[in-house]
Amino acid sequence: MEKYLQVSEAQRVVLESVATMGAEQVKLEQSQGRVLAEEVRANRDQPPFDISAMDGYALRSADLAGIPATLEIIEDIKAGDLPTKTLAPGQCARIMTGAPMPQGADAVIRVEDTEALADSRVQINLAVKSGNDIRRLGENMRNGEVVLTPGTTITPGVIGVLATVKCAQVQVYRRPRVAILSTGNELEGLDEPVDPNKIPNSNSYALMGQVQALGIEPVLLGIARDDPEELARYLRRGLEYDVLLVSGGTSVGVHDYVRPTIEALGAQMLFWRVSMKPGHPVAFGKIGEKIIFGLPGNPVSSMVCFEQFVVPALRRMMGHARTYRRTIEARMTHNVKHQPGRTEFIRVLLAKEAGGYAATSTGAQGSGMLLSMARADGLAVIPGDSAGLTAGNTVTVQLLDGTVFQDDAGFRE
Ligand code: AMP
Ligand code: MG
Repeated sequence: MEKYLQVSEAQRVVLESVATMGAEQVKLEQSQGRVLAEEVRANRDQPPFDISAMDGYALRSADLAGIPATLEIIEDIKAGDLPTKTLAPGQCARIMTGAPMPQGADAVIRVEDTEALADSRVQINLAVKSGNDIRRLGENMRNGEVVLTPGTTITPGVIGVLATVKCAQVQVYRRPRVAILSTGNELEGLDEPVDPNKIPNSNSYALMGQVQALGIEPVLLGIARDDPEELARYLRRGLEYDVLLVSGGTSVGVHDYVRPTIEALGAQMLFWRVSMKPGHPVAFGKIGEKIIFGLPGNPVSSMVCFEQFVVPALRRMMGHARTYRRTIEARMTHNVKHQPGRTEFIRVLLAKEAGGYAATSTGAQGSGMLLSMARADGLAVIPGDSAGLTAGNTVTVQLLDGTVFQDDAGFRE
C-alpha cells in the first residue's frame, strides 16, 4: 500500500517544488494585488521640509509663557506657498495644514485654541511645547531609504507609497498561467442540455472561481472522457500552461486513467495520497517547471484540496511571501464526531461573539455536498488524532475568503 502523506508534508513537497515566476513591468494603475519584484527607494525626503500638521498659527513657543498671549500676525502661509519672513519675538504666521514652517517658528497652535483680534493680531489661549503639530522633514521617508522590498503584496497603501516615490511603472512577478481540465464519462458540460443520466460539471467552474479569487484568470480546457488516448490529448494541451489542475480520475477505479496517463507523458509524481478528509486521492506531479495537481472528483474534496495545496503553490509562484490562508480560533457550538485517523476539514459558518468567533457546521458534510461549501465561511480543522469535539471546544478555522494570508498553515493536524 502506498504511503499517505500528512497534509503538512504534502504542503512542504508542493512548496519545495514550485519556483516564483519571472518579473514583468506593469503600469502603476494595473498593479493592485500583484507582488513587487523589485526594491523601491524613496526619491526625496518626505515631507521635503518641516510642515504644519494643522490649520492654525506658527509661533515661537517661548512667547507663550503667559496665557492668554497676544501675537502679531506677519504672514499668511498656505499649502504650496514658501514663507518669506522670519518670526521675531511676539510674532506669528497664519499657516494651513501642509504649508512649510517659517524661519523662527518652533510650534503650531490649532486655530480652535485661538481668537482673532483686530489689527492683524491673535490671542493664543493655550500654551504648547516646542515641536507641537509640526510634521518633520523626512519623518515619512528619507531620500534613498528602502521603502518597499520584493515580495510585498501591492495593496492600496503600497500603491500610495509607489505614487509618492513616482514609480509610474512597477516590476511585479508574472502570474502563472493555469489550465483546468475535468475528466469523466458521466460529466455534462454547462452548455449541454440537461440529461438525467449525467452529472453536471461543477468542478471546472468552482476551481475557476478559486483561481480567480487569487487574481489569476484560468483557461478551461473542458471535459476529457475516461479514455487514455483522449485524456493524453487533453493533458498535452494542459501542459502548455504553467499549472494544470485535473479534476477526477485520481482514485484507484479501473477507469481512473489520470495517473498512468500523466506518468506516460513524463511527469514525476511526488504524491498520490494525503491523509485528509475529504480529499485523500489528491496527486501532485512535475514535468520540468510545470506542475500538475490531480484533484479528487468529488466537488467538496476538489475545493478543499485546492485550498490546502493549490493556494500555497499559486501564491508562491506569484511571489507572495505569505502563502497560506488565514486561520482563526473559534468556539465550536456543537459536538463533532471524528474517527481518529485522517485530518478532517469541516465546513463551518462563523459568527462573531463576545471574545471571538463561534463556528457551526454548514450541514451535511458528504464530499459531494457542494451546498455545504457554498454556505461556508471557513474549514474547521479536526486533527487526525482527535476523538471528536464537544460543544464549547476551541477549533482552528481556515478562512475561505479574503486577501489576507499568513506564513504557515496555522493548524495542528
Ligand atoms: P472520480 O474522482 O473521478 O472518481 O469522481 C468522484 C465523484 O465526483 C463522482 O461521483 C463524479 O461523478 C464526481 N465528479 C467528478 N468530476 C466532477 C466534476 N467535474 N464536476 C462534478 N462532479 C464531478
Ligand atoms: Mg471519474
